[in-house]
Amino acid sequence: MRTADRAAAAYLGLAIGDALGATVEFMLPQEIAARHGVHDKLIGGGWLHLKPGQVTDDTTMSLALGDSILAQGKVDALAAAGAFDTWMHAKPVDIGNTVRRNLLQFRKTGIPEAPYSDHDAGNGAAMRVLPVALATFGQPEDAVRAASRAQAHVTHNCVMSDAACETLVFMVQDALRGAGKNDLLHDHAHPLAARFPEFRFRAVKPSRNPSGYVADTLKAVFQSFFDTDDFRDCLIDVVNRGGDADTTGAIAGMLAGALYGPEEIPEAWLKRLDTVTAGACAMQARALIQLSK
Ligand code: MN
Ligand code: MN
Repeated sequence: MRTADRAAAAYLGLAIGDALGATVEFMLPQEIAARHGVHDKLIGGGWLHLKPGQVTDDTTMSLALGDSILAQGKVDALAAAGAFDTWMHAKPVDIGNTVRRNLLQFRKTGIPEAPYSDHDAGNGAAMRVLPVALATFGQPEDAVRAASRAQAHVTHNCVMSDAACETLVFMVQDALRGAGKNDLLHDHAHPLAARFPEFRFRAVKPSRNPSGYVADTLKAVFQSFFDTDDFRDCLIDVVNRGGDADTTGAIAGMLAGALYGPEEIPEAWLKRLDTVTAGACAMQARALIQLSK
C-alpha cells in the first residue's frame, strides 16, 4: 500500500472518528446503550447539535494547522498560533478551555508558546498531531520531536501532553511505513506506559467514560486500537465508551486509518462525512506527505 493512501486514510479516519464520537460526547456508556444500542452511525446531534457527518475542533484545528504548515513549507509555531487564532475568531462549534486560554494569551503577547504547566495535560494538542506526523515523515527523530513540541506548545506546554503527542506522531509514521500493530505496541505504546505509569492501559480496568485528560484519552484509544482487528470495530469500541468520545474517536480513527488503509474505511461512513471536510482532509494528506519528500 502506498504511503500517500495510508496518509489519506489517517486523515479521513480522524474526521470520521470525530464525527462519529461527537454524537455521544460526554455521555456515559450506559446512556449511549439506552439511547442507541450500539452507536455506529454518523447521525450528528449530540450536545453540539451537529449535522450528520459534521466534525468538531479535533478535525478543524488539524486542518488549520495543516494549512499553516503548507503555507510555510514547514512546521512553524508562530504560523500555527496565527492559524489557531484565526480559527478561534471564526467561532468554531467547540473549543477546549486550555486552547482558549492560551490562544487568548497569544493574542496579548504574540508569543506562540504557552507557559509551562503540569495542569495543561488535556488532549487538545494530541488531537491535532496528524499534520505534523505527515509533514515530518522521514525526518530525523530529533526534528520530528521538535516539530511536535512546536505545534503542541502553542496551547499545551506540559510533559504529559508532549509524551502523548510524540508517541502518536511516531506511531502514525511507523504505520505509514507499513509497521504492524504489534510493532506499534512494543515500540511505542508500551514504552510510553513504562515511562509514565499514568498511560498504563494493560492490566488496568477498561477505560469507560474517558475524560479529556490526555493519559485517560490515550488509555481508551490504546485499549480499543490494540484489542480490535479492523477500522470499524476500533472506532465503534472507543466511541461507545463515551466521555470525550469525539477526541478518542478522532485519535483512534487516525491510528486505525494509518494502519489499515483506505480499503477498510466503511463506505457508509465515508459517504456521510461532510463533503467539504472530506475533500480538505484528502487534499491535505497528499500535500503534507509531498512536503515531507
Ligand atoms: Mn471536539
Ligand atoms: Mn472532545
